[in-house]
Amino acid sequence: MRCVICHGDEVKVMEVKEEFVVNNNIIYVPVRVPVCQSCGERYYDRQTVRFLEEVEGELGKKGAKLKEIGKVLMYG
Ligand SMILES: [Zn+2]
Repeated sequence: MRCVICHGDEVKVMEVKEEFVVNNNIIYVPVRVPVCQSCGERYYDRQTVRFLEEVEGELGKKGAKLKEIGKVLMYG
């Protein structure tokens, strides 16, 4: 598979973290997607897009499966 952005031919499936912001919290959702190794473009298939939409809907609800891995801090 070639990257449509930079035409690089190194597109590898990797685990990346999609970032959502809910009520000032940053929530990472790990997904495995093909990523261009030269420009960083991510390629989402239909299934992944649907999965992320579902997850996004869950995040604001009580009882969403979340664990705290750090804090978001602001300087100043
Ligand atoms: Zn690329």
